[in-house]
Amino acid sequence: MRLLRLLVAASLAVPLLPRALALAQAPPAAPAAPPTFATTKVEGNDNVYIFRYQGHQAMFVVTSDGVIATDPIGLGRPQAVTTYIDEIKKVTSQPIKYVIYSHNHYDHITGGQPFKDLGARFIAHKNAKAQLERLQPPNIVMPDELVDQQRTLTLGDTTLELLYVGRNHSDNSLVMRLPKEKLIFAVDFVPIQAVFWRSMPDSWLDEWETSLKRVLALEWDRLIPGHPGPGGRLGNKQDVENLLQYMSDLAAVVKTAADEGKCYDTAMKEVKLPKYEAWGNYAAWFPGNVERYCFLYRSGF
Ligand SMILES: [Zn+2]
Repeated sequence: MRLLRLLVAASLAVPLLPRALALAQAPPAAPAAPPTFATTKVEGNDNVYIFRYQGHQAMFVVTSDGVIATDPIGLGRPQAVTTYIDEIKKVTSQPIKYVIYSHNHYDHITGGQPFKDLGARFIAHKNAKAQLERLQPPNIVMPDELVDQQRTLTLGDTTLELLYVGRNHSDNSLVMRLPKEKLIFAVDFVPIQAVFWRSMPDSWLDEWETSLKRVLALEWDRLIPGHPGPGGRLGNKQDVENLLQYMSDLAAVVKTAADEGKCYDTAMKEVKLPKYEAWGNYAAWFPGNVERYCFLYRSGF
């Protein structure tokens, strides 16, 4: 009986002790996962919005004569496109007149048909159309109108410039500039405080820096990226300067490795740029960035 009492007491006490310890040692609650999508009005504006779905973003502009939307961001998730349209309808009853493609990569421009069904006209750089005709991807609406070097789109009270700054992350990236709002929307070729995507496929390294300098020469204060920046912040000109410095530092260090015969594999393991360790995706993608610069020094482009 006494033994039984002891066992009962032990069975009550024992679970309490670790639980108390567990409570005392519990780490702070993990931050809640961000919601699947969000629509944010860009601060200081009445008409410019960012629609984010998971890790992709698109800008849309509400004018006095309709809405200008950008990338449908619907690859593998058609619900992102219908959500995007629903979100636009929550802030305005204006019709969606245009969808503008930032560049031809599928993760940004797949799935625009619901916009087309509402009567939107699609605009892209002329090289984007050529790429789409060559690659024939499924579920991408072909552009109705093309931009070569520059086009100014005026809709109601809003002016939006579509600017080609040369080849970089693709051969058809358009910078969308709102001169009055001093905002630009630029996708993938200007990551904010982050390294480039893996081995930078489909890229023109020799012209990339020139295109960044052209972006710097434009008049704007804030940059809306195609993937959320750190903490969701927008970019600024210092970010572009920093990115140019990163490219220059990376080029120098990989050139040395190439001269020492370390490209590709040894360089990808050994080359580091600790100055940029805190940048987004450094651990995962920096070796790929090294690989791309190795290719430049081995192949000349
Ligand atoms: Zn891209």
